[in-house]
Amino acid sequence: MEKKYSKRRRSQRILAVLFGAVILALSWVFLQNSLHIYEQSRGRTKQYLIDITYQLHEHIETQIQNSLEMLRLIRNGALEIEPEERERYLTDLADFSNFNSLHLVSDFDQAEAWLRQHYGGQYVLDRDLLQQGQAQLIAIPGKSMVVYFTADHADQDTSVIIGEKGNELLKELLSNNSFDGQALTLTITRQGTVITSQIEQNFFDEIAASYAGTEYAEVPQLFEKMRADLRTGQSGTLSFPSRSGESLLLSYEPLSFSDWCVFTVIPASVLNAGIEDLTMQNLVLTLVTILLLVSVGGFLVILQRKHTRRLTDIAFMDEITGGWNELRFRLEAEQILKSSDAAWSIVSVDIADFTFLNNIYGAQAGDAVLRHVFAQIRNMLQPGEIAARSSADIFYILLQTQDRDAIIRRLSGLKRNAEAFTGLDNGSYRFELRAGVYLIHDCSRNLAWMEESANLARKYRDGQECSFYREERMQEQKLERELISDMPSSLRSGAFEVYLQPKVRLSDGCISGAEALIRWNHPEKGMLSPGIFIPILEKAKMISRLDHFMFEQVCLLLQRWQQESRETCVISVNLSRQNLSIPDLLQQYRAICERYGVAPSSIELELTESIFMENTAWMQKFVQEMHQLGFRCSLDDFGAGYSSLGLLKDLDIDVIKLDRSFFAGNVPDGGKGRLIVSSILNLAQQLHIHTVAEGIEQTEQVSALRRMGCDVVQGFVFFRPMPVADFEQQAYNGGKLRCLPCTAAEEPNNSKEPPSHE
Ligand code: C2E
Ligand code: MG
Ligand code: MG
Repeated sequence: MEKKYSKRRRSQRILAVLFGAVILALSWVFLQNSLHIYEQSRGRTKQYLIDITYQLHEHIETQIQNSLEMLRLIRNGALEIEPEERERYLTDLADFSNFNSLHLVSDFDQAEAWLRQHYGGQYVLDRDLLQQGQAQLIAIPGKSMVVYFTADHADQDTSVIIGEKGNELLKELLSNNSFDGQALTLTITRQGTVITSQIEQNFFDEIAASYAGTEYAEVPQLFEKMRADLRTGQSGTLSFPSRSGESLLLSYEPLSFSDWCVFTVIPASVLNAGIEDLTMQNLVLTLVTILLLVSVGGFLVILQRKHTRRLTDIAFMDEITGGWNELRFRLEAEQILKSSDAAWSIVSVDIADFTFLNNIYGAQAGDAVLRHVFAQIRNMLQPGEIAARSSADIFYILLQTQDRDAIIRRLSGLKRNAEAFTGLDNGSYRFELRAGVYLIHDCSRNLAWMEESANLARKYRDGQECSFYREERMQEQKLERELISDMPSSLRSGAFEVYLQPKVRLSDGCISGAEALIRWNHPEKGMLSPGIFIPILEKAKMISRLDHFMFEQVCLLLQRWQQESRETCVISVNLSRQNLSIPDLLQQYRAICERYGVAPSSIELELTESIFMENTAWMQKFVQEMHQLGFRCSLDDFGAGYSSLGLLKDLDIDVIKLDRSFFAGNVPDGGKGRLIVSSILNLAQQLHIHTVAEGIEQTEQVSALRRMGCDVVQGFVFFRPMPVADFEQQAYNGGKLRCLPCTAAEEPNNSKEPPSHE
């Protein structure tokens, strides 16, 4: 179950991780796509800006090119005509060619002089350029004028034609851009002179001036790249912030025939407007999708968790106490023991006579008691300790201590609190809590074994508050279980044998009877004495079967002896207390006697003194019935417990068997013991009760008993218990029961009983 549970949890975790990974991967792809689209669009729009700049550049260049072509044609035409005609010729053609005025000078010197004369000395003629046949355009910002100079190196003539032109057209061209008026387009010279301006203005100086002292003071340096590009005739783009922090984009394109350059500046927002919106939309959509997926995933995980928790609750919760059940306790306890070095103990707790309580007060009251007990157990737990109800009224507690005194103290508190329950019969019924403790010395044992050990300890009931598990008891219990399980088969296979111990009449030394004593010739454990297995079988309520078997065996034996015409004697058979609960036991025994043709009077039923003590009135009737059916009755082990001479008065018994404890210390000697024994013997004599002294081992004891008037002796001094075959040999002499010669009777008999496990 534990494996299944953790396997299930592992696969759920794997699924959740996979789901999360898929969501993350999808999100990453979405984001990458969005960014890619954004970058692509941005790149394309930037390209658009460059294209627009280039188009402007082309327009302007074409315009100027046309103007220059026109100038060259006019120059060549003017050179063809007479010098006096030229002035008019040029004036006429000025209108036609869109120039404000046209002038033809004979060489570069004159051209320079003209320039100085008309526009001052700050403008310089580029002779090299002109010599190569190229044109020079000089912008005169203050006059919104552009002056064209061009010669022609195809002919030998050094004449230079000068054309003056307003820069309106240029301005118009530049204002005509595609960014809804949000773009600024300018033409500047390489040095930065703004051509289309009304005033003398240097673009780079303006930039430097306008950014000075702002937080973007480093911006003018960015323009150094542009300046360098322009010097080498290269185009390019530039990103920079405006003074207000707005992001701007600039694209520049030098004109091929002069040192002019066209550039366009637009705010990046104009450039990115649509794309950013789209990208933002895309991002939002992506985020919403991720959010949705995460929510759905989360929802599913929560559902799954709830479901799992419900299953876990069903599998691991005890529905009566609301706490853990046995399974959960084991899983948790195993985990704790595995991971902790501390000393732990398992306690098993149960409620005495819980079945009775349940039957009398009903299941609901029983449940209330269980809840109360569990609540008290919970109260006594310290951090890290756990508890659960296992089944019925059994609870387990894992305590973090092996200190016996501390455990006893804590369990005593639990007992006090739990037993204070007043919910039954208005508090008049009080139940008792019992506890067994197993100190966990060996963690390699499994939990079930530890619990079972605590259960076994609980059943010892040898402590006030609780009992502690002992290894020796385990061996005993193991033996008990084995014997209990082996008993039926041994009964069938004949492993139980009848032994007989002769009883010797002291008056004449003759064998007057025998006691049937059982032996178990166990197939594996060898010969077992009744002292080992009888208490076990009594506890297991199996002893009456054995007594029944013995009784029948004795009847069978008596039947055979009768058939063999042997002299028979009274054989006593032990009856255990358990038989008394069989209502028609004596009738059954009587029927067995009849079946075997045996007179009940030849059988004596031995009952131990303690049985008589427990229920004297009932026993009186029982003895009475025994006599009615013809059996003899003897009071076994008299004096072993709380012997009461009163018993002799109340009960109509035939024989008392003085327990061997009277004779243990060479009694009867001259002291109190002797006095007691002789008194009992006297009393019995007067009540006409026969007396048997048991456990006699010494001849001196025999002599003393004879003197005190004891009727019969049963002891090793004469005979040990022996198999039937041996009895037939030793107790008989030619079919007659043997009489031991008086002197010899007091000699110890060395007949040996096969060794047994005492
Ligand atoms: P018990 O009925 O008092 O039997 C007498 C016990 O004293 C026998 O022990 C016997 O061997 C022992 N004994 C006799 N003379 C001496 C002696 O001189 N010295 C010593 N040390 N012991 C002596 P055993 O056979 O071991 O039986 C023990 C008890 O087991 C019996 O005590 C009886 O209570 C019970 N038992 C034996 N057979 C049966 C049976 O078939 N049914 C029942 N219910 N109990 C039986
Ligand atoms: Mg006996
Ligand atoms: Mg006895």
